[in-house]
Amino acid sequence: MQTEQKFIWLDGDLVAWDDATVHITTHALHYGIGFFEGIRAHGTKQGPALFRLGDHLRRLRNSAAVYGMELPFALDELARACRAVVSANGLTDCYLRPLVFLGEGPNPLAAPLRCAITASANGPLVGAAKAIGARAQISSFQRFGANALPPAAKASGQYLNSVIGQSAALRAGYDDALFLNENGLVADGWAHNIFTVYDGVLSVPPQWTGGLPGITRDSVMTLAAEDGITVAERPLVRSDLYLAEEVFLTGTAAGVKPVGSIDGRPMTAGAPGPVTARIARLYADAVTGESGAHPDWLDYV
Ligand code: PMP
Repeated sequence: MQTEQKFIWLDGDLVAWDDATVHITTHALHYGIGFFEGIRAHGTKQGPALFRLGDHLRRLRNSAAVYGMELPFALDELARACRAVVSANGLTDCYLRPLVFLGEGPNPLAAPLRCAITASANGPLVGAAKAIGARAQISSFQRFGANALPPAAKASGQYLNSVIGQSAALRAGYDDALFLNENGLVADGWAHNIFTVYDGVLSVPPQWTGGLPGITRDSVMTLAAEDGITVAERPLVRSDLYLAEEVFLTGTAAGVKPVGSIDGRPMTAGAPGPVTARIARLYADAVTGESGAHPDWLDYV
């Protein structure tokens, strides 16, 4: 296949793109049993730097642990593999996708866990934030409850919930689906966390309403507070989204993504509003090392 990716890290080795295949009986294909991460590397003055690599790998370990499973490789081994896959492919600005998945075997739950890491210059949603002013729709599908599928896990099968809401949103002419939980509280976006700005206060739903513990979310909360912006972690309902002056979404691939309207109601401060624009700048300067903020967040290849 024609691709800019030459190598994929698979189960301990860098292998050629065409050789990184799985058998059709791989259980992850049938049941969605897998855990994954999306990690960005950005060009910096000291070469490509992976953003919060250790935090992403810890979340991967936690995703498996929620399902009572253990990663097949140690975190420092996976960190080395992430660096190796970037340099082997000669990439700088890129998106990495570590995937731990259940392989083949007679008994699905006793099959071995396998691990692949791909890196590409154009991952899913990379650069999506450039399409400013997303038209968001509050989905009629609910985010799953914490006692159904724990949102702390970034697990493959859990994404069917995102897919059903996002495909409905796209069919209806929107860009991004937003999810409420079974109690009507704002959870997250189909592939993003959500922030609102009202009266100068930045609000973000707490983790227990059903959102993924986003690493961009955490970075934005930290950078905003350091910049003197009041950050409130509090439950939000549908009308908080409608009345917000600004709303933005965060995610590794998309970065800070301004929302222009929700259910057809334009945000009063425009998109990007002033607070969103400020936070997008702080985030961009942190991931590229421009601001020197949090050097511990950068892991040089
Ligand atoms: N929520 C969902 C459902 C996601 O898929 C993502 C993307 N990983 C996020 C939030 C944002 O998480 P992060 O900032 O760690 O990429």
